[in-house]
Amino acid sequence: MENKNENTMDKIISLCKRRGFVFPGSEIYGGFANSWDYGPVGVELKNNIKQLWWKRFVKQRDDIVGIDAALIMNPKVWEASGHLATFSDPLVECIKCHERFRSDDPNILFDHVSNKHPETIAKTKDGETQISGTGFGFTEPKQFNLMFKTFIGPAEEQANVAYFRPETAQAMFVDFKNVLQTTRKKLPFGIAQIGKAFRNEITPGNFIFRTREFEQMEIEYFIPKPSRDEDWQGFFDKWVEEMYGWMETVGIDTNKVSNLEVPKDELAHYSKRTIDFEYEFPFGKKELYGLAYRTDFDLKNHFKEAPYKEEEDGEAFWPHVIEPTWGVDRTVLAVLCSAYKEEGDRVVLKLDPKVAPYKVAVFPLLKNKPELVEKAREIYNDLKKDFTTAWDDRGNVGKRYYAQDEIGTPFCVTVDFDSLNDNAVTVRDRDTMKQERIKISALRDYLKEKLK
Ligand code: ATP
Repeated sequence: MENKNENTMDKIISLCKRRGFVFPGSEIYGGFANSWDYGPVGVELKNNIKQLWWKRFVKQRDDIVGIDAALIMNPKVWEASGHLATFSDPLVECIKCHERFRSDDPNILFDHVSNKHPETIAKTKDGETQISGTGFGFTEPKQFNLMFKTFIGPAEEQANVAYFRPETAQAMFVDFKNVLQTTRKKLPFGIAQIGKAFRNEITPGNFIFRTREFEQMEIEYFIPKPSRDEDWQGFFDKWVEEMYGWMETVGIDTNKVSNLEVPKDELAHYSKRTIDFEYEFPFGKKELYGLAYRTDFDLKNHFKEAPYKEEEDGEAFWPHVIEPTWGVDRTVLAVLCSAYKEEGDRVVLKLDPKVAPYKVAVFPLLKNKPELVEKAREIYNDLKKDFTTAWDDRGNVGKRYYAQDEIGTPFCVTVDFDSLNDNAVTVRDRDTMKQERIKISALRDYLKEKLK
C-alpha cells in the first residue's frame, strides 16, 4: 500500500516537471533545497485557484474586503504578535551525522534512523516511543525561531534587522483601523489577503507541501465581543462549512479530508480553538488548511486603545477574530492529487474546469495542410477571447489527446477535412472521451455551457 502511494507521489512530481506544472528551483545549479518553480501550466492552475478564492470570498461578499500589504513589516509587528518570542519549532540534531530535524514529528526521526543508521535501531529497547524522545541518537530539543531575518539598508547591524513575514495575517490586524476608516464596515466583517509567507522550516519536504517560501490565502473575520461561547462558535461553525464548500469548488476530494480538533495543550499561543483540516496526501494525512478562533489577542497587542465602536458615541472595544487560512501550494497539491487518475493506458488529470490551466485545445488534423491550419487558427484566435486555449499541431491526434489529458484540458477541438465543407468540428470530452460534431458557429456557446 505504502509503496503504491509513494509511487503515486513520484508519478505526480514527474508529471508536474514533464508537463510544466512545477520544476525544481534553480535546477541547472543542482537545485536549491526544497525550492520549486511553477511552470507555464502550473502558474495557470495556481492563478485560477487564487482568482476563484478572491472572487468567492472578496468580490462576491459584502462583508469581506481585501488588502495587499508589504512583505517586510516593522519588526515591532512581530514583537507584538508574539512571533519573535514563540514562533519556533523544537529542533534536534542527529548525534551521528548532525543532520537537523523537527523533533515533534516522530516519523521523520524514525525514517532518518531507519535509513541512515539502522544499526542504532538494533541497539534500542522497544520501538517508537523512544524515537520521539531524546537519548536515541538525538540531542535535546532546542527552540528554533522560524522567521527569516534580513537587514534593511546597507549596514548589517542589529538595529537594521527585519523579518520576512511568516504569515499574511498580521497585516490585516495592523491595517485594521485604516480599513475600518476607509470602508465604514460594521461587525461582523473580514479582511482578506493573498500573498507570500516565509518560514525557515527545519524539515521542508514532500514536494510543494512544505517549503520555506509559500503562499497563503487568509481571512481575519472580525466579530463582536462574544458574551457566551456560543456567540463565537456560531461564526466558527459557519467557517467550517465555508471551507468545505471551497474544497468542493476547486475539486479537492473531501472524502479524503478530516477535521483534527487541536488539543487544548497544543493550541498556538493566540488560539482558543483550532481545527486543522487534514488531507490524505500520498505521503500521509497532513494539514491542508486551518481555522482558529484567535480571540481579541492580536488587536489587543497592536492597538493600545480599543479600535472599534459600534456607534459614534458607543463604547470602544477590541473585536474578536475567527481566522480561516488556506495554503495556496497545498491547495495546488491537493487538487492535483484529487485529480490524478490512471485509466487504461492514459493518465488524466480530472481537474474541475474552473481550475484547469487550459479550458480547450484546438488542433488542425494535419500540420502540413495549410487550409486546415488556417481554419484551426481562426477558431483558436476566436476561442482565446473567452477561454484559456491551447494550440497543438504536433504528432497525431491520439498523442495530442494524451498530452491534453495529462494537463487536464476538458475539451479538444479538431479541425478536419470535413470541417472545410460542413463548417463543423469534432469536440472530444476529456472525461467521457466521447466525440461530438459541433457547428463552428455554435462552438463558443457549446463550450460556455459545458464549462459553466
Ligand atoms: P504545519 O503544522 O504544517 O507546519 P502550520 O499549522 O504551522 O502548518 P499555519 O501557521 O496554520 O500552518 O499556516 C496556515 C497554512 O499555510 C497551513 O494550513 C498551510 O496550508 C500553509 N503552510 C504553512 N506552512 C507552510 C509551508 N512551510 N509550506 C507550504 N505551506 C504552508
